Amino acid sequence: MIREIVKDTFFLSQKSEPATRQDQPVIQDLLDTVRANADRCVGMAANMIGERKTILVAQAGKDYLVMVNPKIVDHSRQCYETEEGCLSLTGQRPVKRYSVIVVEYLDRKFKRKKQTFRDFEAQIIQHEMDHFEGIII
Ligand SMILES: [Zn+2]
Repeated sequence: MIREIVKDTFFLSQKSEPATRQDQPVIQDLLDTVRANADRCVGMAANMIGERKTILVAQAGKDYLVMVNPKIVDHSRQCYETEEGCLSLTGQRPVKRYSVIVVEYLDRKFKRKKQTFRDFEAQIIQHEMDHFEGIII
C-alpha cells in the first residue's frame, strides 16, 4: 500500500526500534511507497511512512534493496562531502559520507546478510540509517 510521507520533524527525530517478522507488511508498504516516488526519491526509511522500525529500502540498479535492522560493521577511513535532499524535507543539505561501508542486515525474508556497498548505494544506506537515529540530514 502506498503510504503518505511523514514530514513532521518531531516524529522524524525519534529513534526507531528493531523490526521483527511481524513488521513484514511495513516492508511491502515501503517498497510500494518508494516506487510511487521513484522520480524524486532513491531510498526510504520506515519512519518516513510513520513506522519507527529499523527497515530501509534503497535503490540498487533497477531494483530495491530491503534491509531490516542493518548495522554498519566496517567502513572506509575515507569520507567525502556531498549534498543530499530528502523527501521529508525541502532543499539540499551538506553531509559527510563514507565511500565504502560493510553492512550486516536481514533481507526481506529475514535471512542474515553481510555485504559491501560503495559510492551512491553506500550513500543512500547511510542517509536512511541516519533516519533510524532520528537524524534528518
Ligand atoms: Zn531522508
